[in-house]
Amino acid sequence: MRSIKHMSLLLSAMIVFLAACGTNSDKTLVEGKTNVVTSFYPLYYLASEIGGDRVNVVNLIPAGVEPHDWTPKSQDLTIASKAQLFLYNGAGLEGWTDDFLNGLPKNTGLITAEMSKGIELIHGNPEEEEEDHDHGEHDHDHGLDVDPHTWVSPKSAMVMAANVKDSLIQADPAHKEDFEANYDELAGKLEALNEEFESKLAAAPHKSIVVSHQAFGYLARDYGLTQIAITGLSPDAEPRAQDLLKVAKFVKSEGIKYIYFEEMVSPDLAKTIASETHTKLLVLNPIEGLTPKQEKAGEDYLSLMQKNLQNLLTGLQE
Ligand SMILES: [Zn+2]
Repeated sequence: MRSIKHMSLLLSAMIVFLAACGTNSDKTLVEGKTNVVTSFYPLYYLASEIGGDRVNVVNLIPAGVEPHDWTPKSQDLTIASKAQLFLYNGAGLEGWTDDFLNGLPKNTGLITAEMSKGIELIHGNPEEEEEDHDHGEHDHDHGLDVDPHTWVSPKSAMVMAANVKDSLIQADPAHKEDFEANYDELAGKLEALNEEFESKLAAAPHKSIVVSHQAFGYLARDYGLTQIAITGLSPDAEPRAQDLLKVAKFVKSEGIKYIYFEEMVSPDLAKTIASETHTKLLVLNPIEGLTPKQEKAGEDYLSLMQKNLQNLLTGLQE
């Protein structure tokens, strides 16, 4: 996966063939290394950074595909059954994990682990609750849904990185020291990112963001922001006309100047709100995956989170 640029010519030549036979030559396991299968990009990133050259990481969800819509095929089950470690986010992101784990043959030695473990999860729909309680009370316990977007906050990404490190050590104890050294380096970068988010967002004069889907709950909680989403926890939820009116009213009353959209979801609704409220558009990336273009450009979790911070600071200025 490291030699993406190198492979892209070959891959584009193979696309017709791949589409016809339905295999993905990228998802190859390597003998002699610890094979780690991850459900989606943020875990692929963490496992690659911490595993280094001791591991071969296979990401199940291909570039440019929204994880909320994705379900595994039988080949993904085959790959996982031959790997040593399967990492998934949990917290309701991958609705398919229970079936997937049950479908795996027993006694393969595969270790499976949930990487959102240890993060205080956000329950319910804080946005709707806010409408119910005008006094700004937040009671997140009476909702049914869990917000799965843990990785979008550098604070919870640090917890996830520690979980990935622990799982790698469990799967390949012989390389414990390598994993710990790589982890320490990454944890330092995540900590620096966290501190930058903390200090810069604390100094921002505005605190409310209007986003396309409700993916920034952990970011908002951890850095003192208020998130208003055009759609729900999943980007394909259809907002009602009165929801859009409410968002437009909020934009006007809060003096919001930018509406955030994301690259893997149609920007139509964000555009509608922006033209209705005479505001501008900016990207805020939930980093649920890389687009093929970002992958080619060598973008990663850290570089995209830096861009998110810059765009947040632009949107939250006076
Ligand atoms: Zn999402």
